[in-house]
Amino acid sequence: MKPASFDFVAARDMAEALAALREGGDAARVIAGGQSLVPMLNMRLATPATLVDISRIEELRRIESANGAVTIGAAVRQAELAAWPDLAVTLPLIHAALPWVGHMQTRSRGTVCGSVAHADPSAELPLCLLVLGGTVILRRHRRTREVPAEEFFLGMMSTDVAPGEMIAALSLPQARPGEGHAFAEVARRHGDFAIVSCAAKAGADGAVTLGVGGVADTPRLLELAADAAADPATRDDQLNEFAWSLGARDDLHATARYRRELVRRLGRKTIEEALSCRA
Ligand SMILES: Cc1cc2nc3c(=O)[nH]c(=O)nc-3n(C[C@H](O)[C@H](O)[C@H](O)COP(=O)(O)OP(=O)(O)OC[C@H]3O[C@@H](n4cnc5c(N)ncnc54)[C@H](O)[C@@H]3O)c2cc1C
Repeated sequence: MKPASFDFVAARDMAEALAALREGGDAARVIAGGQSLVPMLNMRLATPATLVDISRIEELRRIESANGAVTIGAAVRQAELAAWPDLAVTLPLIHAALPWVGHMQTRSRGTVCGSVAHADPSAELPLCLLVLGGTVILRRHRRTREVPAEEFFLGMMSTDVAPGEMIAALSLPQARPGEGHAFAEVARRHGDFAIVSCAAKAGADGAVTLGVGGVADTPRLLELAADAAADPATRDDQLNEFAWSLGARDDLHATARYRRELVRRLGRKTIEEALSCRA
């Protein structure tokens, strides 16, 4: 199918992008890598009056590391982040998860912020953002606001981005000494969206944050205190309760029961891995 017609603004800088978004209001959409939006346009699941292309805005193409955090601009492609030489040391969880995000071809166009904005419940990058306790930096005309990842994802493909607003960047805390990270997922084929994905961060004190994607409408977190994470019986009890709390449903890809079992097994695996690889 072909998309409905729309106006196209190839913004050269932030002022131009924000003006076009302000003018377009509800009927304007950002296009970054187009890897999710273009199929939606083609199927007419999205019919924006104006598309604002942010991919040429130089100030959004930066990855910066300062004061214990990494800032990733909205035009940074997934493949550019994967090729960033500091990635494995500063953001080991993202380093582990990125190869699971689509295919080399989609990563070479799709942006990191676009994946977060799209908010597919099975997507890997929103899950990692949540587990790391990152922040979404939003811009609109004359206003910037910062939203913690925990408040950003409102439901399936629904976020806190308001009309006229765009994600300018993500801020992710750098890995600290003594932390460990692990990522695992099960998908039908490599490159498909996850049936269940798990990401874990273990603190130097042994406490663990586990995130699960692909089950509930948004990625969800389980916090385990150090003694609970270290004790297999307590850990498994908490994982079991967590698996039930996610409200898994049967669908074309998997049964609810299979998803719950994956949460238990992948959850255990990522927790153990994150604890054992603490540097
Ligand atoms: C074959 C295929 C397989 C894929 N597999 C996976 C997978 O396994 N895991 C996965 O996570 N993803 C997967 N994807 C999706 C891919 O990762 C996309 O790149 C990503 O979801 C969207 O990024 P994008 O830059 O292309 O955004 P676009 O497609 O340009 O935009 C997506 C949505 O986000 C909005 N948006 C984009 N940027 C901003 C911004 N800065 N501010 C506000 N709104 C914004 C757009 O308006 C649109 O609603 C797959 C895609 C394809 C085509």
